[in-house]
Amino acid sequence: MKEIGHWINGKRVAGTSGRFADVFNPATGEVQAKVALASKAELDAAVAAAAAAQPAWGATNPQRRARVMMEFVRLINRDMDKLAEALSSEHGKTFPDAKGDVQRGLEVIEFCIGAPHLLKGEFTDSAGPGIDMYSMRQPVGVAAGITPFNFPAMIPLWKMGPALSAGNAFILKPSERDPSVPLMLAELLQEAGLPDGLLQVVNGDKESVDAILDNETIGAVGFVGSTPIASYIYSRGCANGKRVQCFGGAKNHMIIMPDADMEQAADALVGAGYGAAGERCMAISVALPVGEETADRLIEALVPRIEKLKVGPYTAGNDVDYGPVVTAAAKANILRLVETGVEQGAKLVVDGRNFKLQGYENGFFVGPHLFDHVTKDMDIYKTEIFGPVLSTVRCKTYEEALGMAMDHEYGNGTAIFTRDGDTARDFAHRVNVGMIGINVPIPVPLAYHTFGGWKKSAFGDLNQHGPDAFRFYTRTKTITSRWPSGIKEGSAFNFKAMD
Ligand code: NAD
Repeated sequence: MKEIGHWINGKRVAGTSGRFADVFNPATGEVQAKVALASKAELDAAVAAAAAAQPAWGATNPQRRARVMMEFVRLINRDMDKLAEALSSEHGKTFPDAKGDVQRGLEVIEFCIGAPHLLKGEFTDSAGPGIDMYSMRQPVGVAAGITPFNFPAMIPLWKMGPALSAGNAFILKPSERDPSVPLMLAELLQEAGLPDGLLQVVNGDKESVDAILDNETIGAVGFVGSTPIASYIYSRGCANGKRVQCFGGAKNHMIIMPDADMEQAADALVGAGYGAAGERCMAISVALPVGEETADRLIEALVPRIEKLKVGPYTAGNDVDYGPVVTAAAKANILRLVETGVEQGAKLVVDGRNFKLQGYENGFFVGPHLFDHVTKDMDIYKTEIFGPVLSTVRCKTYEEALGMAMDHEYGNGTAIFTRDGDTARDFAHRVNVGMIGINVPIPVPLAYHTFGGWKKSAFGDLNQHGPDAFRFYTRTKTITSRWPSGIKEGSAFNFKAMD
C-alpha cells in the first residue's frame, strides 16, 4: 500500500507516529493510500526548523520573494494536468473542475507577485519639527494553515502564497482525505527557488491541529473547514494569544424573482447546486422562488435539467457533470438528511436515493435530489448537507425571501436572479452575507478582492486573499524618528539593482 508522509525541510519524509488514515479513491471506494498522521513531536520539530529558516527569508527583499512566486506560477501551469489528475483521484471531482480548483489557487499566487507593493508601509514627512513617522509591515514569523478536503489545491495556495511572499515560514496541515496535491505544490515551490524549511507540509488530524494551536512559536493560524471545528480553532488559538482567522460552513440561498430570466436562473441553479456534488462552501443549497407562479415555473425548468445530470468517475473526462462525494461517511450523512426531509414533510421531486452506477457499485456516488415545499424548521433547511441536494422554499414576497437569507445562521454567499436593478441593489445593501451574486450563482471574488463570509461562516476580522491576506500575515510597526541635521557623505554615480 502506498504511504504518504510529510514535506519537511525540502524533502518528503515518512511519518514516525505509527498512525495513519485511509485515502480513498471515491469513485471505486477502494483505499488507494495511507497518509501518515503526525504526532505533536513531529509537528513541533517542523515548526522549530521553520522558525530557524524564517529570519533569512524575512530579510530577503520582497521583490526576490515575489520572483519565486513568479516561477511557481509557471511551474503550476506546466504541471496543471498532473495536479488535476492527482486531485480528482483523491477528491473525486471531475477533471475540468479539478483544473478549476488549481486555477483559482494559481490566481492568488499571481496576485502575490505584487507583494512588494502590498507590503509597503506609510510615511509622514515632518510629523513634528525634524520628526518623520513611518510604518512597516513585518512578517508574523511562523504562520500555519489548516485546510479542508473540498479544495485541496486552491485553499492551500490561498494560504501559503500570501504567507510566504510576506516573508513568513508556513506550516500547512492539509486535509487527510486528499493529501497528495499539497505535497506536489511543495515540491514545485522548491523547484521555483523557495529555500528549504520555509514551507512544511505536515499531514495529520486533531493531534497535529492541537499541536499547532498550542505551539508558542506560531504567530498566526488560518483555518478553512466546518463551523464546529472553525469555532473550536478560533477560541483555542485566540486563547493562546495567536492571530486566528477561521472560515466555516455555509447554507447559500438564491432568490428567484418573478421577473428573472427563468432559463438562465435554472441553468445557474443546477450548476451551483450540483457541481462538485454540492461539496462547495459556495454551492447554492436553497432556492427561494418569490410567488407560487415563479415557484411552479422554476420546478418545471429544474426537473428535466436535474434528471439529465451525468454522474460518474473523473476518468470519464468531459462526459461527467459531477463525481462521487469524498467518503462513505459523507454519503451516508447526505442520505440520512434526505430521509429526514421526507419524514418532515418536504416533497422530494427528484429522488436520487437509489442511484447506482454500473461498474462503480462501491463508489461514493450520490444521485441528485430536489426538494420542494421545504420549510424553515426542517433539518434539510437548517443543516449544511454538503451534497447534491437542493431545497426549494416557496416565498410569498421578496421581503420574506430576504428574511430567510438574513435569519439563517450561516452567511457565506447568496444570490438574487432578477431583471430589476432596484431589487438587486436593495438586496446587495441589506443582506447580512459576505459574498453576493446578482444574476451570478457562485460569486467567488477574484484573487485581488477578498473572500469571506459573515455570521457563523467566518470567525475573525480579515478575509482570505486580496489585500486582507497581507494584513493577516504581517504585523504593523510604527516608527517615529528624529535625526540631527547635517550634510551626509559624497556622491555615488553607478545605477545599481537592489541586491
Ligand atoms: P473539517 O472541519 O472536517 O476539516 C477541516 C480541517 O480541520 C481538516 O484539515 C481536518 O483535518 C481538521 N479537523 C477535522 N476535525 C478536527 C478536530 N476535531 N479537531 C481539529 N481539527 C480537525 O471540514 P472538511 O469536511 O474537510 O471540509 C468541508 C467543510 O469546509 C464544509 O463545512 C465547508 O462549507 C467548509 N468550507 C468552507 C470554506 C469557506 O471559505 N468558508 C471553504 C471550503 C470549505
